[in-house]
Amino acid sequence: MSMTGTAFQKCINPDCGAEFDCGQAIFKCPACGELLDAQYNWDKIKVPKKLSEFERRWANKSNPLDFSGVWRFRDLLNFCDDKYKVTIGEGQTILQQNDAVAEYADMRAGRLYLQYEGLNPSGSFKDNGMAAAFSHANMAGVSSCACASTGNTSASVALYAHSCGLKATVFIGSGRIAFGKLSQGMDYGAQTIQIQGDFDDCMRQVQDVCTKLGLYLLNSLNPFRLEGQKTIMYRIIEGLGWEMPDWIVVPGGNLGNSSAFGKAFYELKQLGLIERIPRMAIINAAGADTLTDLVNNKKLAWNNGKVDQKIIDNYYADLSARNFSPHTCASAIEIARPVNLKKCLRAIDICNAVCRAVTDEEILEAKAIIGRHGLGCEPASAATIAGLRNLRAESVIAPDERVACVLTGHPLKDPNVTVNYHKENQGKFSNPPIEAPNDIDEIIKMLN
Ligand SMILES: *Cc1c(COP(=O)(O)O)cnc(C)c1O
Ligand SMILES: [Zn+2]
Repeated sequence: MSMTGTAFQKCINPDCGAEFDCGQAIFKCPACGELLDAQYNWDKIKVPKKLSEFERRWANKSNPLDFSGVWRFRDLLNFCDDKYKVTIGEGQTILQQNDAVAEYADMRAGRLYLQYEGLNPSGSFKDNGMAAAFSHANMAGVSSCACASTGNTSASVALYAHSCGLKATVFIGSGRIAFGKLSQGMDYGAQTIQIQGDFDDCMRQVQDVCTKLGLYLLNSLNPFRLEGQKTIMYRIIEGLGWEMPDWIVVPGGNLGNSSAFGKAFYELKQLGLIERIPRMAIINAAGADTLTDLVNNKKLAWNNGKVDQKIIDNYYADLSARNFSPHTCASAIEIARPVNLKKCLRAIDICNAVCRAVTDEEILEAKAIIGRHGLGCEPASAATIAGLRNLRAESVIAPDERVACVLTGHPLKDPNVTVNYHKENQGKFSNPPIEAPNDIDEIIKMLN
């Protein structure tokens, strides 16, 4: 607890612990270069005594801040004045119980829930974070912003930027972005820079560009974005009638969500709003499995903040030496150097989490099942169900535990992957179109 006001920024490195005012847009600790957290002086914030009290705001939907699925929970991310807050109606999501998908994952009926984030204004969970980060940008008084993106960040940034009157530049890897996402960024009017390289190259470039030109950075190393993403967990608990799930399953790319979810649960426990913290499963794609490899094989751990940097440095040096570039059909998680790695290690500690990697084949099969029986999703989101199925086979998760999988993005984000899977008969749930002559009798014969 320090600084004045309700919130401040604090370096996550316990050997540094430097603190900064909330109004600053700095993104990394100027003293040691580590990630920053938003932290709160909880004694100065009036937090409801019970989570269910947030439900009262449903009755006041004509107030845009009460309608927002992010700002409805504003007491738990109280870093800026209401006058700076931005909303375009994000977070109107649903938690769907799905028994058909449960059966596929070998869960008992009634135990699997899908948190469908595709309902957000730009079609992915990223809007939760952008509502919070653009509010901070407003508070910091900036006029232009930028991000590196595998696609959904750029779509969400472009949408919020024009809503706030900010100029936006998005950096994407050439040939690495799904068509739905690329189309959104251009349509919403962002300046799009296609870099010859992958996401990790874009991430390095955008950090330097933002520092040199003073642009506001909207990647998930922005601590305020993660504050917005905490609300995905609040809405899952809300969807369960304010009861806790046993497991949260989330795809892992840049590790923003897993980091945010761990922080959300830690704070709720500290505040006495929940009694126990659920476990978490973070699912990588096999072609981009840095986290899984580091945690399961190289034994990298949070270790009270004293992370063994040498393990990470050696790992990344080896990636560079091999000229490694990640590859998976789940382009949203095609990331080899996740910027939130250390925060994610902390979340793994908080949630007693496990990490696993799933193949593209497993992702595509799970995606087809979610499409056939649920609301559909993009490939990265389906990694959750593929991972859950494997964790059931390993008996890490029991069939009657209550599991919530975060479906991060809308099915129309990546139509190419979906069309190829079905049209080219790539898997056992392929549902290809049937060629028919333009003749009523022939057509009827085919339908019989
Ligand atoms: C950005 C994104 C991810 C990865 O998010 P992290 O929390 O940073 O790992 C996963 N799925 C979708 C659809 C995304 O857009
Ligand atoms: Zn520091």
